[in-house]
Amino acid sequence: MTTEKMKKEFFGTNGVRGVVGSEMTPALALTIGLALGSMRPGRIAIGRDTRTSGPALLRALAAGLMAAGCDTVDYGILPTPALQLLVRGSYAAGAVITASHNPPEYNGVKVIEPDGTEMGDEETLVLEARMRSAHEFTQPWDKVGSAIERAGGPDEYVRAIGSAFPAGIGEGLTVVIDPGSGAACDTTPAILRRLGCRVFSLNDRMDGYFPGRLPEPSPEGLAALSRMVTVTGAAFGVAHDGDADRAVFIDNEGHFVEENAEFALIADHLTSQEKGVIVTPVSTSRLLEWVAEKNGCRVVYTPVGSIYVARTMRERIDAGEKVVFGGEGNGGLIYPGHQFCRDGGMTAAMMVALLATRKTTLSAALGTLPTYTMRKEKFHVHDPEELIARLAEAFQGEAPDLTDGVRINRSDTWALVRPSGTEPLVRIFVESKTREAGEEIYQDILALMDPSSV
Ligand code: MG
Repeated sequence: MTTEKMKKEFFGTNGVRGVVGSEMTPALALTIGLALGSMRPGRIAIGRDTRTSGPALLRALAAGLMAAGCDTVDYGILPTPALQLLVRGSYAAGAVITASHNPPEYNGVKVIEPDGTEMGDEETLVLEARMRSAHEFTQPWDKVGSAIERAGGPDEYVRAIGSAFPAGIGEGLTVVIDPGSGAACDTTPAILRRLGCRVFSLNDRMDGYFPGRLPEPSPEGLAALSRMVTVTGAAFGVAHDGDADRAVFIDNEGHFVEENAEFALIADHLTSQEKGVIVTPVSTSRLLEWVAEKNGCRVVYTPVGSIYVARTMRERIDAGEKVVFGGEGNGGLIYPGHQFCRDGGMTAAMMVALLATRKTTLSAALGTLPTYTMRKEKFHVHDPEELIARLAEAFQGEAPDLTDGVRINRSDTWALVRPSGTEPLVRIFVESKTREAGEEIYQDILALMDPSSV
């Protein structure tokens, strides 16, 4: 089953990622290019975010793809979801040079399948196997592929999103955009202007040094956006991570909107119009269950990682089920009628539609949601897998969800313990109405952990 997590050597949950010059090098990008080119022969769409190392890594990747016999079409700088949209149905594969939300010194590669989704575990393992003997895929002189540079990719993306909403739906709304010098500097302002919004922006010059804030759209980094929202009297502020597959919000009062609340609010908007399933990882807030129950829908859980959400959505739709929405509690939301990947530009547009439809302010809309407290801790342990097995056994009587780690559900609280994929540690999430209400389940878990590891 594709939603089961598998151990990979180079690739994490969202592609290859590492510090440029040590972990992420042009040699590695070239190797990925050769392996991918041999695996998905044909025309490959490529692009990148705004990082300083992007041009070097993109050209190395392209060199590998061409050496393996593929023709490359380079769209330059664009959001990851824009490249995913362009790839779908038109290319043998795609690849984006990006490190998403990571600091400027990082970069990486996300591989896109012909249907526009990120490559899943099984195929990634095949790709990794090919990377180990990549030199074998170098083609002779008359089989080498070509390099084409193509403009207009971002415009196509803007048009696709703009045409998904009624014309002028954003008229009368002022919005402030903080693309954080990343890949959506041009696209999200263009999308929201197209919807009729009055748009202000900051950190809107593409810059791989990220001078205004780091690529992660954290509450601390968005202080300037918050001020600008208040000063301009905007309906909301929206910010992206470096490759703009995620969107996070500042409400009309200048407050950061917790991403699970954002997810729940948009889920409420969509499931009040259409009944079906909401797909999300086991780490997501119970707010989604609240929304689903209210609107006669159901939540389906997956392992943590957007590819598991996207693939589960596809599998269930293929099986004839109605899937309305999916996403993660980090502002990465997936609209099945649009495409099967997280899309920050689409999420910004959806917020406009939500406010226009509900004729309310964002802070008032947030006030309709119940409030929960999420506690997140991490602990170094000698053997995370052993601990997870022990917890699953100990909580057997409570029928724990073993989709990813152990999730224990109680009437007023839930907890998730899951191993980190890369380090010898476990992460513990506890959500409840108040922190005190979650204390009992938290203590129950701690009692079962090896005292020397806590
Ligand atoms: Mg991202």
